[in-house]
Amino acid sequence: MEKRDYYEVLGVSKNATDEEIKKAYKKQAIKYHPDRNPGNKEAEEKFKEAAEAYEVLHDPNKRAQYDRFGFSGLNQEGFGGAGMNMDDIFSMFGDIFGGHAAGGFSGFGGFGGFGGERAERQYRGSDLRIKIRMTLEDINAGIQKKIKVKKYITCPDCQGSGCEKGSAMETCSECRGSGYVTKVRQSFLGMMQTQTVCPSCSGEGKVIKHKCKKCNGEGVTYGEEIIDINIPAGITGDMIYTIRGKGNAGRRNGIAGDIQVIVDEVPHDKFVRSEKDVIYNLLLSFPQAALGCTIDVPTITGKARINIEPGTQPGKVLRLKGKGIPAIKEYDRQSGDEVIKISVYIPEKLSQDEKEKIKNLEDCDNLRPSESITKQIFNKFKTFFD
Ligand SMILES: [Zn+2]
Ligand SMILES: [Zn+2]
Repeated sequence: MEKRDYYEVLGVSKNATDEEIKKAYKKQAIKYHPDRNPGNKEAEEKFKEAAEAYEVLHDPNKRAQYDRFGFSGLNQEGFGGAGMNMDDIFSMFGDIFGGHAAGGFSGFGGFGGFGGERAERQYRGSDLRIKIRMTLEDINAGIQKKIKVKKYITCPDCQGSGCEKGSAMETCSECRGSGYVTKVRQSFLGMMQTQTVCPSCSGEGKVIKHKCKKCNGEGVTYGEEIIDINIPAGITGDMIYTIRGKGNAGRRNGIAGDIQVIVDEVPHDKFVRSEKDVIYNLLLSFPQAALGCTIDVPTITGKARINIEPGTQPGKVLRLKGKGIPAIKEYDRQSGDEVIKISVYIPEKLSQDEKEKIKNLEDCDNLRPSESITKQIFNKFKTFFD
């Protein structure tokens, strides 16, 4: 099939507004929808063609590319053009028919698939994303707390039905519950039968005669809910922790969305996290490293006393087993370690008196690294030089 200009496909002008494009696509999608044209290949092609045109024209970037360079502009962008499959198109429906104001097809559980039976229609609330700041201490211990979330909740007045007290939804009289109406018109080819979504019930097959006043028949109102959050110890910033069914309520007792919790890890002032391990940089004075000492180092939960051997080299690494972050992965139950990297502190400024004392040390042959010592230390720390 010869590729048609996208504006022509949707029947809009080059300077059509987003709203006009959306409207035009909606019209086409309904007209050529596979549910309404079972087994009709031409309708399927038209349906796909319209979806592709909409996919490009409703995206300001893609539209600009298309306006400037035509189809080739889109290929440069990596947009395959005809590469859309039916699933892509249906997932786009949530976008175009979705939202509270749109009424109509908002967030249905699907049109019953391609050419299949009409599925029971159920709205799904959207997901919410919340960010939680966690310190290393929080991550080490896990977080259990309650938070207040502002979102769509089931309307308390009608319990989500959208109907005023004492009333219920009624079968739409215009379509007698089928959700679409058939129009027969005379054309030069003879009698033409077209099916369109029922304008009275927007395809639902049922109408609310007496809308709940609080929610205007939506079954949801904007409100808040206290949510229990229980984030396990050891979570990492790239994980998304999902709380099922706690997102926005679905319209008219539909399915609630989820809450996705994203962890925002607060940088620590003493430790650097490396997956399960925490790294601590221990600065020793020259006498401490040379003579050895006992020293306290911080841990995530408090502190630990460690022994520094006499003659400890900068670059030496000590491990406090199990003092890191708890494991979170099913296949790895071992907690991390605290990794202590030793450095020796060299002061940047010295008093006259200190300079004198250090100069005296220069006379000590043993304080000067010989060639063999240099080699020995090189071999010991080779891995760090890689
Ligand atoms: Zn209500
Ligand atoms: Zn109807």
